[in-house]
Amino acid sequence: MNQNDLKKLRKMLMEKRDDLLQVVRSKKEDLREAEIGDEIDSASETAEKEMLFELTDNEKTILDAVEASLRKIEKGTYGKCEACGSKIPFARIEAIPWVRYCIDCQSKAEKS
Ligand SMILES: [Zn+2]
Repeated sequence: MNQNDLKKLRKMLMEKRDDLLQVVRSKKEDLREAEIGDEIDSASETAEKEMLFELTDNEKTILDAVEASLRKIEKGTYGKCEACGSKIPFARIEAIPWVRYCIDCQSKAEKS
């Protein structure tokens, strides 16, 4: 994987993270509209954290994986399977940039 590929994938990951956080934000706005009161400002930080739990399990799993991938890019370990450490084929990474496991480990995890 070259630097350009890495840059492109990093951008895709950040866009995906923004998309997911946008879901959280729009849910937060719904809450604001529903609660017209004085305590909203002090509560907004808590509300944001609570709203993260409003994501579906699938959305949370993806957000976790996206953030883990961004950390791995920083550390230079991106593109390796988290379970066995082998290189994940580029085609698989390109299709799912937040992929954590190689196909072998993924299918073993799905069977168990
Ligand atoms: Zn593996």
